[in-house]
Amino acid sequence: SPLIGILALQGDVREHARALESCGARVVAVRRPAELAAVDGLVLPGGESTTIDKLTRIFGLREPLRERIQAGLPVYGSCAGMILLAENIADPATDQAGNAQQTLGGLDITVRRNAFGRQVDSFETELHFTQLAPEGGPERAVHAVFIRAPWVERVGRSVQVLASVEVPAEARPAAGNGRIEPVVRAVAVRSQHLLATSFHPEVTGERRIHELFIRMIRGEA
Ligand code: GLN
Repeated sequence: SPLIGILALQGDVREHARALESCGARVVAVRRPAELAAVDGLVLPGGESTTIDKLTRIFGLREPLRERIQAGLPVYGSCAGMILLAENIADPATDQAGNAQQTLGGLDITVRRNAFGRQVDSFETELHFTQLAPEGGPERAVHAVFIRAPWVERVGRSVQVLASVEVPAEARPAAGNGRIEPVVRAVAVRSQHLLATSFHPEVTGERRIHELFIRMIRGEA
């Protein structure tokens, strides 16, 4: 079975390890370039993208990560991990010295951080998600948990949208005349070897998204 690394600088590493192991994968924490070099696929966990960004540079992992992503390493990013894979951030954070946060890039999308707004810090919903393996019978919805989640505002031509969400009313921009328009945003995307979700399947017992990622590593999806 494939050896899957989890970038273990900050974030919900343990939850991803549990999810991957229950799908039969071998899992290793990645904190050094040598550990990265040994893996067949990599998970970028949820957490805080600004912190993970800084730590990748402190740990000498930024360039090795960028190189492996460019070379075709399968990578799955959830939430903060999605932000790290994005080519562009609509509203990057800046530190005290005025430096904007950076991403690893590779996935041709623009994300907006904390997009669902303060009033809906966290929410849960049912999603239709394409590309999940049918289990016999109609496809079961994905129960998705969003925690200060990003959404995807732009996708490049190479990027497929796998799931979208109707933005909760409180988080929608008000249109003219105080009218509120329904808004739909992409929350799961894929481009060849790169997969990203705004939500956290690793915290709900949902395993089909990790299974999809394992099939991607095996070249079966
Ligand atoms: N808001 C966080 C960030 O910008 C992401 C939150 C999460 O991963 N649950 O990195």
